[in-house]
Amino acid sequence: MKITFSEIEAGKSSYEFDVEPAEMRFDFPDAQFQQRVKAAVRAFASGDEIIIDGTVETSAIMECSRCLADFEIKLKAPVKLIIQRNDEMQDDDTGDENFDIVSKSVNEYDLAPYCREQLLVELPNKPLCSEDCEGLCPVCGGNLNETHCDCSIESDSGHWEKLREIFKGGNS
Ligand SMILES: [Zn+2]
Ligand SMILES: [Zn+2]
Repeated sequence: MKITFSEIEAGKSSYEFDVEPAEMRFDFPDAQFQQRVKAAVRAFASGDEIIIDGTVETSAIMECSRCLADFEIKLKAPVKLIIQRNDEMQDDDTGDENFDIVSKSVNEYDLAPYCREQLLVELPNKPLCSEDCEGLCPVCGGNLNETHCDCSIESDSGHWEKLREIFKGGNS
């Protein structure tokens, strides 16, 4: 995902990337990245700054937090990065993820680390295979999206409430 500053200063205004997930070096235990990562950005130079604007997208496999099934989630993140070419402030941590400073002697810049972080931010904390995922049966552990077991029907009809009262009565 490399851009070249001299190309941009000479008028190259867009880049498209389509790379293997391995090239992104995703290191995130809760998501598996198996699909290619595509990015399309516009680039232009303004003084000592290179402005990058576009999107990056791919998909990941995550485990549903309700039914524990693996599902694919599509990810699309904005790419909005300003790279300042500055020899006085190089290697400074700007504290702004959308702003980076590199030495003027650097001519090539790899967008992969930035794009990786942008994609990871898009991952949900509580992944759901679908908004109305029915989860697992608390009794038999069956996936209620795929099968409706007898125990879930009984619990719906209130039999479990009655059983609980009987057990409570037995203990006292
Ligand atoms: Zn689910
Ligand atoms: Zn069940």
